Amino acid sequence: MDALGTDWALDWVRRSAAVVAEHKAELSGLDRAIGDGDHGENLDRGFRAVIAKLDDATPETPGAVLKLVATTLISTVGGASGPLLGTAYLKGAQAAGDAPQLDAAAVVALLTAARDGVVSRGKAEPGDKTMVDAWTPAVEAAEHARGAGGDATAVLQAAADAAAAGAESTDPLVARKGRASYLGERAVGHRDPGAQSSAYQLRAAADAAEG
Ligand code: ADP
Ligand code: MG
Repeated sequence: MDALGTDWALDWVRRSAAVVAEHKAELSGLDRAIGDGDHGENLDRGFRAVIAKLDDATPETPGAVLKLVATTLISTVGGASGPLLGTAYLKGAQAAGDAPQLDAAAVVALLTAARDGVVSRGKAEPGDKTMVDAWTPAVEAAEHARGAGGDATAVLQAAADAAAAGAESTDPLVARKGRASYLGERAVGHRDPGAQSSAYQLRAAADAAEG
């Protein structure tokens, strides 16, 4: 699609909630290997709260949807990932502003702002084995797709593909941020849970754009 509206944002959120619920045990399993085993439960609790809030609220723009996600995740997810992901959605919401529709350039701006929010809050760089390893390649691929003339859907598909590859790229890394950094070499061979859940959320955004 050329431009994505509120229906897309709502579908993105519902698909994210569904994919997090579906992969809750897997995400907590990844976190059990290199953290404290709560990532799937944390995120699932957050997205359930988001869905419950959507039953009452009627956000009228994509930005308003993302802002609701942000405030709810910040207040319900906890841990490291709650404030980080909450900041991603908050900055994404701010980039979207009150536009009723987001074109390819606006989607790139949204993803860039979200990634920048995670980085400014968590101070992780690519290669530190965090969710930044999913978000940064996603932003780069989104920019590239937009530069090649892709529409909003193509931009999100490129972002989702790159985020999935980025999550996979964390497997051989030693962690330099978050709980996994306490493990040193023992984190090698395990995927970062936050990178994996970020990749699922970006895939949900692309699937929602495809309709
Ligand atoms: P906690 O580590 O507090 O238990 P979660 O298990 O919910 O929180 O989330 C862990 C995820 O948070 C990690 O897999 C990683 O992707 C992400 N993370 C942790 N610290 C940072 C950071 N400084 N910057 C970016 N992401 C981080
Ligand atoms: Mg954890």
